[in-house]
This record gives sequence, C-alpha cells and structure tokens, in this order.
Amino acid sequence: MDWNTQPAISNDAIGSPSSGAADGRALQRLLDELGRLPGIGPKSAQRIAYHLLNADSDEARRLATAILDVKSQVHFCPTCFNYATRERCDICEDPSRDTTSICVVSEPRDVSAIERTGSYHGLYHVLGGVISPMAKIGPDQLHVRELLARLADEEVGEVIIATNPDVEGEATATYLARTIKPLGVNVTRLASGLPVGGDLEYADEVTLGRAIDDRRAM
Ligand SMILES: [Zn+2]
Repeated sequence: MDWNTQPAISNDAIGSPSSGAADGRALQRLLDELGRLPGIGPKSAQRIAYHLLNADSDEARRLATAILDVKSQVHFCPTCFNYATRERCDICEDPSRDTTSICVVSEPRDVSAIERTGSYHGLYHVLGGVISPMAKIGPDQLHVRELLARLADEEVGEVIIATNPDVEGEATATYLARTIKPLGVNVTRLASGLPVGGDLEYADEVTLGRAIDDRRAM
C-alpha cells in the first residue's frame, strides 16, 4: 500500500516563511507569476501550479533555485553578447570553433537555434535586436560598433547575417552588408526557404541547416 506516500500538498513546499507574506494567496501569486511568462495562458499556469503542488519539495526548490541562479550567474559575453556563465561564453571560449567566420543574429535564442542544426562551427555576434524605425531602434542601439571592432581586430573572412526573414530583419541585413563589405569582408545571408516573416527559432533544424549551407553572397 503506497497510497499515502505522496501528499497532494506538502506544507514544506508551500509554507516557506521566506516566500513573501502569508496572506493566504500563495497559490494565486504563483498562478499570477506563471501567467506572466511568454506562451503560458491561464490553463497552462494552472497545470504547472498544480504539478508543483503535487511535486516533492526538492523538485520545487530545484526549479526556484535554477531561476534565481540564472538571474545571478548569467550575463552577456563581452565579445559576442551571447549569454555566458563564465567570463566569456562557451562558444567564444571553444578553441575548436572556426574564428574566421562570424554569424550575426538578433537574439541569444537564435544562437541556440543555429547551434541545434550542427551546420555551423564559427563564432557569433548577437546584435541585441534589429533596426526598427518604428521602435526608434537604430544601429547605435544595437551591438554594431562592437561587431565592426571585432572585424578590425580578428581575422574574419566571412560574416553570415542570420537575422529573421522579416521586414526588420532584412533591413538590418542590408544595413550591415553595406557597412561591412567596404572592410573587405565577405557578407552572406541565409538562403531563402525559411518561412518569410517567420522566426529563426521556430524553423526546424533541417530547414535552418540547409539555409546556412546554401547561404548567398550579399
Ligand atoms: Zn561570446
């Protein structure tokens, strides 16, 4: 008989005195916080909250600690502006990477998407957004200056521009190509075939891998 091994609600898990006021709204606070996460609607928030209520306290604590650790330990790599847990990111620190190639993406999540394809072995540069006149974001608000400094310092033969295939991503690619080509560096763009207006991170690995392999000169 093991019907009693897992209490539905563990006081230890939800009654931690450190977790804010005991206002009787602990569950509602969790639902509110989960509901603020991207892609989590009220139903998903409820499913996750009840899962955590049923989980043992270790599992809940691991999740809470992982969230706090990521906030305190992860920062931007000073070279490429990808996320890093050591001084520089794992890719910049990896001596097996091809340092003659830099792939320019708009967000760190795009680095993960391209890494998943296994088709690319060079370095990255994360812009931190895209040029968007509507949002008043120009090259000065992005890490463009740092990219140009890298091109001056490092032996880079090719810059692959992998911004999303939407209006702002294309405008950013055009601007970068115009700025970088006079430096004598080859500029290429991911091949078409990615869904137009789509997000790099949602492209499947095969399609994205092929877009890298078939990149075209700009
Ligand atoms: Zn880096």
